[in-house]
Amino acid sequence: MNSIESLVRPNIRALCPYSTARDEYEGKLGIFLDANESPYPTGWNRYPDPHQKALKEQVAALKGVPAECIFLGNGSDEAIDLCFRIFCTPGEDNAIAIAPSYGMYAVAADINDIGMRQVPLGTDFSLPAEELLAAADAHTKLLFLCSPNNPSGNAFEPAELEALIRRFPGIVVVDEAYADFSAKGSLRERLPELPNLIIFQTLSKAYGLAGLRLGMAFASSYIIRLMSMVKYPYNINQSTQELVSRALQTPIADRVEETVAQRARVAAALPAFRCVKRVYPSDANFLLVQVDDADTLYTHLLADGIIVRNRSRVPGCAGCLRITIGLPSENDQLLQSLSAYEKGDIHR
Ligand SMILES: *Cc1c(COP(=O)(O)O)cnc(C)c1O
Repeated sequence: MNSIESLVRPNIRALCPYSTARDEYEGKLGIFLDANESPYPTGWNRYPDPHQKALKEQVAALKGVPAECIFLGNGSDEAIDLCFRIFCTPGEDNAIAIAPSYGMYAVAADINDIGMRQVPLGTDFSLPAEELLAAADAHTKLLFLCSPNNPSGNAFEPAELEALIRRFPGIVVVDEAYADFSAKGSLRERLPELPNLIIFQTLSKAYGLAGLRLGMAFASSYIIRLMSMVKYPYNINQSTQELVSRALQTPIADRVEETVAQRARVAAALPAFRCVKRVYPSDANFLLVQVDDADTLYTHLLADGIIVRNRSRVPGCAGCLRITIGLPSENDQLLQSLSAYEKGDIHR
């Protein structure tokens, strides 16, 4: 058994997966009397492709990753949950995550009864590599990193991430949900060198398809086979497969470019407000902003119809609001509302 195999739960290693009717016969033409579907055409009477072959070929071409190294899930949420179910024995194993970071890692750990060890980021949200390594023990199976990180907004140096992945004794997940907005790019092309790496990306942010629910994981073909074996057979419905396939034909570069330009503009405008204490550097489509009185400002913005995320109770984010970059006109309104707040024209 190699070192990656030995990280897999014994029951998963031994799993004989469910075989669908569509696994046994894959042709497109014929009289389908094999899956107990309705023969009456409603538009959706046939089961979708459980392997999402056509969509994976499209994602493979777009991302430069072979189709056998791609998993497609019902949002990144599905991929997060699968990592726990594949690698961690409930009540026995543990996982590590940076903190502050995306809340779903800890929730999925709790649901699966897996201990989660949160390691605080260093000064200015730097990667605490030595502390993360020191937190691992013989039962540690997973490490969750997020770059660019939510909610801090910063991306870690690819070389720093790679050095940590090489030294870490378990699986390392690098969540790149916001990589499209970052000049530091993706670790995708390093995958062949790093057998313990799983990369998450999503269509929910830069691609503007949050409502369709499509998350992607990139990893070795061995890990992808495990994920495909454990997922629900028809995890991506027919309409999502079709609509995503169509949407991927529209390039996102212009929208990403505008968002990055707007991020620079809002980040440059914010420090002029007295209530703003600090604007953290961002490689994502949001800004983490430390303000004088986060709760009061949050309520003021809300009364103006502007909804931001109050992160002020998250350890490491005291006094902070997380503000997504919107359309130019929406960002204008945000800045106008801040002006009104400072003129004393505040809602309480
Ligand atoms: C928004 C976000 C996602 C996206 O999750 P989906 O389930 O794909 O919508 C994943 N990771 C992070 C860190 C995020 O902030």
